[in-house]
Amino acid sequence: MSEDAKVHPVKPDVAARAWVDRERYQAMYQQSVEAPEDFWAEQAQSLDWFKAPSVIRSTDFGPENVDVRWFEDGQLNVAHNCLDRHLEERGDQVAIIWEGDDPSESQSITYRELHARVSQFANGLKELGVGRGDVVTLYMPMIPEAAMAMLACTRIGAVHSVVFGGFSPDALAGRIADSSSRIVITADESLRGGKRVPLKENVDDALERDGTDCVDHVLVVRRTGGDVHWGSRDLWFHELVDRQSSDCPAEAMGAEDPLFILYTSGSTGTPKGLKHTTGGYLLYAAMTHRYVFDYHDGDIYWCTADVGWVTGHSYIVYGPLANGATTLMFEGVPSYPTHGRMGEIVDKHQVNILYTAPTAVRALMAHGDGVMDSSSRDSLRLLGSVGEPINPEAWEWFHRVIGKGNCPLVDTWWQTETGGIMIAPLPGATDLKPGSATLPFFGVQPALVDNEGNILEGATEGNLVILDSWPGQARSIWGNHERYVQTYFSTYAGMYFTGDGCRRDEDGYYWITGRVDDVLNVSGHRMGTAEIESSLVAHEAVAEAAVVGYPHDIKGQGIYIYVTLNDGIEPSDELKKTLTQWVRKDIGPIASPDVIQWAPGLPKTRSGKIMRRILRKIAANETDGLGDTSTLADPTVVDDLIEHRANR
Ligand code: ATP
Ligand code: MG
Repeated sequence: MSEDAKVHPVKPDVAARAWVDRERYQAMYQQSVEAPEDFWAEQAQSLDWFKAPSVIRSTDFGPENVDVRWFEDGQLNVAHNCLDRHLEERGDQVAIIWEGDDPSESQSITYRELHARVSQFANGLKELGVGRGDVVTLYMPMIPEAAMAMLACTRIGAVHSVVFGGFSPDALAGRIADSSSRIVITADESLRGGKRVPLKENVDDALERDGTDCVDHVLVVRRTGGDVHWGSRDLWFHELVDRQSSDCPAEAMGAEDPLFILYTSGSTGTPKGLKHTTGGYLLYAAMTHRYVFDYHDGDIYWCTADVGWVTGHSYIVYGPLANGATTLMFEGVPSYPTHGRMGEIVDKHQVNILYTAPTAVRALMAHGDGVMDSSSRDSLRLLGSVGEPINPEAWEWFHRVIGKGNCPLVDTWWQTETGGIMIAPLPGATDLKPGSATLPFFGVQPALVDNEGNILEGATEGNLVILDSWPGQARSIWGNHERYVQTYFSTYAGMYFTGDGCRRDEDGYYWITGRVDDVLNVSGHRMGTAEIESSLVAHEAVAEAAVVGYPHDIKGQGIYIYVTLNDGIEPSDELKKTLTQWVRKDIGPIASPDVIQWAPGLPKTRSGKIMRRILRKIAANETDGLGDTSTLADPTVVDDLIEHRANR
């Protein structure tokens, strides 16, 4: 297969400075799966425990009972681990660099300042009667107060549920009700790409809806100074917090006490509110951050995700801060004020590590190499990708143009459910293959199974499962353990089912082929969507492509392709023929597209993932029941696609 052709070997200088080289990865990995108790007992010492755990793990993947517990008799506090323990050594080091939507606004917050502010915030929450186990919903812009609010909750044992600030009042209300939140923390307005989003007004709206009576207070951060309506349960953040003492002891929490609830992106259906707990999650987030990004003291690290997604939780806030890192938080969008913004931010703050999503890379790529001309990006040392399979073409562009060919690129496969990165290269240990997430992290035992659950060996393709527990795993779905068992542990007895399809090559490298639900079956041949999409994106005219199956009389399923063209390319029938030939030649006649529809935009979740289930409905002309569209970024895209359906 063409994508296997290119290998980027580990560079000696990268291996020399890395925490882990090839031999060490192999030795550590082997120990992690053969003697997991010893391995994790030792790793757990990297955290500060109020009471060290004596029981390392008790985990059961069913079928009778699914129960996952790590370090269960240990006690610790997440905010203490992210802040207090760093004060002596790095109190004056910058913890958070904040870059505003407007390029003229930025701010640096040291560990000492962050510690003081979080303690005040925590005391403020206590004054409102918030304590251990209470749920607090955050509906916030990407401002330091968002990270502070998360840490303030953890300091006093409250459970946060961050809802992405781009969601509608409906989506917010559903999540508030589902989690029985007592407090909502928000801002007057958020600012993204120069546009204001009325967060407080959305909260007011949400709290009109059924099931939201649980909320006693709404705490509002003043961000823009825009007008807001004020009611009896509303409080200004500055009025409550500024007058608090900065002395707030961190609660000793059980390792298995809930830390946060987080809803999935909703690519495949109604979002699931995953429950993550304290000790195992923090250890896993910190370790993966340190090893996968090869984080060393003094590195400036930027993850472009929003704190509303798990990537923002584990890799903007908890992983980096637990490691005493400097983490950059960006309020805006990569295309504002110009498409060069991402590179300009890298230069401005001398960013060394840049972690972003394929959707952002493809959006930049559509503008050509010149889009990066406004920055040098010489500070970059490492690149990372997450969220979707990254097409080899986009991988190479990211590597060559953004990273100037100098930076290892780690493609990280994981899920909201997994808490942290599961399959990814370690920069000093793993040769890279564009399009492959490569090898499992310590303690992770992936396997491929057929539809009956038989484990497949060697180079093959199948359903991706994980055979044994790892510390960062979600423990349940909030208030619905039955759905948790049903969704993840019932398809293949005794295994965690990821929902993703995957191929393993001769070197044991894993290649995610897309969601199992999206797999095509054309005349009896099973094909992943990622492969055909990658082929299309490799054509110079194509910016983005999404492939789905639709009912076809002869083949069972036909191949329906939505194509977004690069800037300045005109759609034509001629181009359709060219693209059809391109795919036939690249993958084979079996992958020949039956229908191509030009798509000015694709339906995506708010986290930038293509929602193929909606595209499948449009292709099949079943546009009455599109399912849950509450997490769609731009619903008008769907109307346009329905109107211009190509298959009539
Ligand atoms: P829902 O579960 O509600 O449908 P979702 O699966 O999109 O939403 P997330 O947990 O944010 O919610 O996304 C995890 C999924 O994203 C993975 O299961 C996988 O399909 C995809 N994914 C993430 N990172 C990668 C990657 N590096 N390569 C391939 N796929 C990835
Ligand atoms: Mg999912």
